[in-house]
Amino acid sequence: MADHPQLEGAPGPGSPRTGLRPSGGDPSHLGTREAKSDAPLAPGLYLVATPIGNLGDITLRALDVLRNVDRIACEDTRQTQKLLNHFQIAKSTVSYHQHNEHARAAELVQALRAGERIALVSDAGTPAINDPGSWVVREAIAAGVPVFPIPGASAAISALVASGLPTEDFHFLGFPPEKSGARRTFLEELAAREKADLRETPRTLIFYEAPHRILETLADIEELWGSTLRAVVARELTKMHEEFLRGTVAEVRSELATRERIRGEITLLVEAPTPTKSSGNFPGTESVPETIAARVARMQSESGLDEKEALKRLARELGRSKSDLYRELQRERARKR
Ligand code: SAM
Repeated sequence: MADHPQLEGAPGPGSPRTGLRPSGGDPSHLGTREAKSDAPLAPGLYLVATPIGNLGDITLRALDVLRNVDRIACEDTRQTQKLLNHFQIAKSTVSYHQHNEHARAAELVQALRAGERIALVSDAGTPAINDPGSWVVREAIAAGVPVFPIPGASAAISALVASGLPTEDFHFLGFPPEKSGARRTFLEELAAREKADLRETPRTLIFYEAPHRILETLADIEELWGSTLRAVVARELTKMHEEFLRGTVAEVRSELATRERIRGEITLLVEAPTPTKSSGNFPGTESVPETIAARVARMQSESGLDEKEALKRLARELGRSKSDLYRELQRERARKR
């Protein structure tokens, strides 16, 4: 407790002093808030979640805090300005992003120690979840400054709860590595850890992924972990074109592969591999994945394509480049010789 002086009676929005939420969680808090709305906001750092698409997802408390802090630290001041304009909030902003995080955190903590009220927001969703924030939070705590979460949207949790995949146990992993080699190593190591973890309950793995990499990532998962694990692509959550693609890894990948272009923001969820449920060529598994040569040969005999056409189609399906697949095909053939 001594390390967390803010836990001891430091009032914030939601505490009796601001009147936003009477102690004990009285459900009549909105009425209470009206009655005490002129009560000052407590000094401290406020981590304010903002919408991930639908502006209607801003909370009353987030608006209240944004209106009443001294300033707002933003991942991108221009992006946040649009949100502030929409809600007619005039407030000074300061940038806080991955490139100035350490220096800016020191400045902010100094101001917080002098009694300022500062909100931290990211471009969308919950700050510090795959966004800047955790550094200043740690620094503020170390300086004895109160830190208040103002909860709201987060793509990972929104996707999880509507995915239909297990929610009892989940693991949020953020973005997989962008480069193919690093991503495959990451997936192999992740699967090995998951398979070594003897647990009773099923687990869901949650990733963020860019639309131009989703096919490659799904192809790697299919190849390394097997095609039958359940997967969900949650796209454009809370927006006009919100979409959930649910199925096995193979089904979701082939559905996406038929599209001319994949757009929008994506959260990918995959059932975690277990020793009994998954296949693929990561260490410790028995099953052998189909080689590129075998897949090309199968496509040629099934569709009457020549090798070049079959490679082109396979590259599209796997989300990989034709030249990359061609090189792999050559390597396979060289190994056979
Ligand atoms: N802090 C944010 C949060 O709490 O959700 C996440 C920030 S992270 C840099 C941005 C990534 O989250 C996007 O590239 C995408 O993978 C995912 N994401 C954000 N908004 C989304 C949405 N509306 N639908 C699906 N995924 C989304």
